[in-house]
Amino acid sequence: MKRRAIALFLILMLLCAACTPQPQKNSISGFYFDTVVTITAYAPQSVLEAALALCAEYEALLSKTRDTSDVYRINHANGEAVAVSEAAITILHIANEISKRSGGAFDVTVAPAVALWDFTGESAVLPDDAALRNAVSHIGYQHITIHDDRVTIPKGAELDLGGVAKGYIADEIAAYLTDQGVSSFLLNFGGNVIACGIKPDGSKWNIGIQDPAKPSGAYLITLEASHSAVVTSGTYERGFDLNGVRYHHILDPNTGWPVQNGLISVSIIAERSVYADALSTACFVMGEADGLALIEDMPQTEAVFLYEDGTMHCSSGFKDAEF
Ligand code: ADP
Ligand code: MG
Repeated sequence: MKRRAIALFLILMLLCAACTPQPQKNSISGFYFDTVVTITAYAPQSVLEAALALCAEYEALLSKTRDTSDVYRINHANGEAVAVSEAAITILHIANEISKRSGGAFDVTVAPAVALWDFTGESAVLPDDAALRNAVSHIGYQHITIHDDRVTIPKGAELDLGGVAKGYIADEIAAYLTDQGVSSFLLNFGGNVIACGIKPDGSKWNIGIQDPAKPSGAYLITLEASHSAVVTSGTYERGFDLNGVRYHHILDPNTGWPVQNGLISVSIIAERSVYADALSTACFVMGEADGLALIEDMPQTEAVFLYEDGTMHCSSGFKDAEF
């Protein structure tokens, strides 16, 4: 009798589980931060819509061109202190940390040099040498002052958070989804990818690291991930070719010129996308030897350095890491 009751109970439990609706896989895309943002999640579409609306809010805060944004107000304050959002302050503290650890290879005050280049691919024109040298004289993350919620940069200096902001925002969107009870999702912010959780069939999410030699979108490596951020910085997305040289959007803060070191891309896998983003740009500028030394020193962080000739070098923990 007792056994029959247990069997009945188990059958009822199974029936209940089968009846509980699993959240559907939904997807939503938008154009923010000059790139395509895609959110895929086992969650109602309304939650995805709210997450995408958050992207718009962050864009309004961090855009370089909107005259009400934090970045615009700092850049146009003529050396005065400007009160900004918690998001801007957090990003600037993390940017500062990576600037210090990379010996200045990562530097968000690179903006005056960025402004002299057109990497949209619409024209292949080199900037004026003297103008670039003048721009470089205003670069220096050491001159950013942060006091509580107030930021000051010297007259003539300018911030460009393009190398780190998308990573921060992706982390914030991931936190929002988690807060909403979503336990399985994949975010792709123009190459800044976050995978979270296991899919209902028990599998992890696949994250591809692109093979730049095959612009069709073929993948060089596919990672199975459930709790990681993957960010790639490369020469192939934004830039132009002139006389056999690739001029791209990752600049050496010491010269204002695109970094030419044979690398075609650097991918970083880390727990937080904001670090992966800043580090992918930093490591590209530093090159493999110094970049790897930095990565090996950071817990739960791996790197893939890919060269124009197709050679690839990974950090020592990459092969055995669980992503
Ligand atoms: P993407 O934005 O395409 O994902 P990155 O994260 O590598 O690529 O960021 C490149 C952007 O960062 C550039 O477009 C520019 O705005 C800015 N940037 C360029 N060089 C540097 C640098 N040395 N340090 C910090 N930011 C940089
Ligand atoms: Mg970056």
